[in-house]
Amino acid sequence: MAHPTYTARVIVVRKTKLRESDLILTLLAEDGSQLRAVAKGARKPKSSFASRLELFSVADVLCAKGRSLDVVSEARLVEGNAALRGDIERTSAAAPIAELVERTTQAGLECPNLFAMTQTALRAMCDSDAAGAPSIAAGHLLKAFAMTGVRPVLSECAACGNPVTPLPDGSLAFSPREGGVICSHCRVHTEAGYIDAQTAEWSNFLLRSTFSDIACARMGVREAFSVLDLCQRWCLEHVGCRLRSLSFMFTSGLYESK
Ligand SMILES: [Zn+2]
Repeated sequence: MAHPTYTARVIVVRKTKLRESDLILTLLAEDGSQLRAVAKGARKPKSSFASRLELFSVADVLCAKGRSLDVVSEARLVEGNAALRGDIERTSAAAPIAELVERTTQAGLECPNLFAMTQTALRAMCDSDAAGAPSIAAGHLLKAFAMTGVRPVLSECAACGNPVTPLPDGSLAFSPREGGVICSHCRVHTEAGYIDAQTAEWSNFLLRSTFSDIACARMGVREAFSVLDLCQRWCLEHVGCRLRSLSFMFTSGLYESK
């Protein structure tokens, strides 16, 4: 009996080697759920899959339901996003987008808007120069947290809702466990770290702005990295892991001269 098939528009967020010539693809589907499927022969040099199912690309796939993993039988490239694989700076900035999507999505669990937001972010990063890429990554991560139900509260105290005022050195108490920034009153009973008040302002800007506004804002690399550091702390608390690709960005030195 033939296996049932289905079609899906997907973004490739991870490729894992399987046996000598096959790949397991982790895919973000249009409804925000995760699909995993085998692309047989995709690692062979002449495979037609190789160029259509690259990391960060958008494709239409035809899959056959398998007993454990589905199998990709056809693929049509929709958006290659080749620029994201063309230089190491942009590859390293796009990687946390893919990693967070892979870690927060699940089979059968819809997450409306995540696909469209991710597609727009990747496209914006293609159009941006390398120096603009970290701010787009930061915008994506914050929006993805918000869409998966863990939006950081950065305008008022996450514990009591009262206004927050920065300390004399310009910092704000910040507790991922409490859900965001913390006022001086609540800080007494809370285990909190600190962020710059400016980092909270930039994060709010990224949460409420479109990617074209983010690209136009020309946020500095240092400011974008401070938001990405906030995202890493947030991810550890709410997703249960650090993003390895963000740790790489922080330690690689790739952006030191930007
Ligand atoms: Zn408070």
